[in-house]
Amino acid sequence: MPVDIAHRFRPFGSSIFAEMTALAVRHQAVNLSQGFPDFDGPQSAKEAAARAMFEGHNQYARMIGVPPLNKAIAGSWASCGRGEIDPDANVTVTNGCSEAIPAAILGLLNPGDEIVVFEPFFDFYVTAIAMAGAVPKFVTLRPPADGLGAWWFDPAELRAAIGPRTRAIIVNTPHNPTGKVYTRGELEFIAGECIRHGLVAITDEVYEHLTFEPELPHISLATLPGMWERTMTLSSLGKTFSLTGWKIGWAVAAEPLSRVVRAAHQYLTFCAATPLQHGAAAVLAAPGDYAAGLRRLFIENRDALSAALTRAGLRVFPSHSTYFVMADHTPLRYADDRAFCYHLTERVGVAAIPPSVFYGTPGLGRDLVRFAFCKKRETIAEAIRRLDSLGPA
Ligand code: GLN
Repeated sequence: MPVDIAHRFRPFGSSIFAEMTALAVRHQAVNLSQGFPDFDGPQSAKEAAARAMFEGHNQYARMIGVPPLNKAIAGSWASCGRGEIDPDANVTVTNGCSEAIPAAILGLLNPGDEIVVFEPFFDFYVTAIAMAGAVPKFVTLRPPADGLGAWWFDPAELRAAIGPRTRAIIVNTPHNPTGKVYTRGELEFIAGECIRHGLVAITDEVYEHLTFEPELPHISLATLPGMWERTMTLSSLGKTFSLTGWKIGWAVAAEPLSRVVRAAHQYLTFCAATPLQHGAAAVLAAPGDYAAGLRRLFIENRDALSAALTRAGLRVFPSHSTYFVMADHTPLRYADDRAFCYHLTERVGVAAIPPSVFYGTPGLGRDLVRFAFCKKRETIAEAIRRLDSLGPA
């Protein structure tokens, strides 16, 4: 029986991450598309999760998170200098940030409400906005004109995107896919607009511990004056500890905004996997220097991959954080980002993401390609070896 997919999902087709990873597997390509490490997280996390399973932590968790995890998240928040928070009133554990995003958006927005989104964006924002029947208004991040600086936005464009129906703004810093870290100046401007127009800020900070430049530290929008009570800060365990498959995320917010997230979370999934929450609590409470080692590896990988892409003829933009680097493939004269990524995966044996799916404005992103460098050194070396055979279209 032919069955139609509901209208709300029709514009989005199949997830680019599923599509490109499947293509990479089919062609035995080095998979630099979907962002996940090809190595495991800390042993201590795995042991704590296994122990929790054998000690009988196998039933539903508390809806807002198991107490030790809420406490560890609050502890980690405070240890980054963001102030003391209440583990139960201010922290909600979700199934990855991927669930925190729709929980925040569905909990907050009514049909017809508008929300400002910077493009390129992580595509979950726009699909969650569609599920809520809300309307995204896009502000474009522009690549550095000199090829050296950071991605930037025009403040006037942000001002113009805010209207009488605007309820919220999404800020993803450090930013996927560009590797941009929003500066204090940029965040102050955004905070000013939020306060002036009474907007709620939803921030996605899953790469908060993966910044690479000392002069570009991660700053949480919620720590700016006047922003705590109007910000939902979303983050997760996966990127910091190479445990993306655990799907443990959270929302940190003042009590009224925590109620907003929980209104949706309790009916989306109710709770995240109990033993994994205990594993997460253990590693968050004693993180050691895991993230520092990851940063060292990723800086090396980023530099080696960027140099190889430059040698292959692409124009590589600087990445200051995250798992990703963006490049302009147009010097090689492929038709668009999809044509380039399919050629690269099928013929060269390296998979990447075509970023046009990360834009709301038609036509944007076609010149670009996103590579993930969150891999073993050897994996990046193999990708670089294969890139030797990449030539013009
Ligand atoms: N965050 C990951 C990326 O951007 C993918 C997440 C997913 O597969 N849904 O590559």
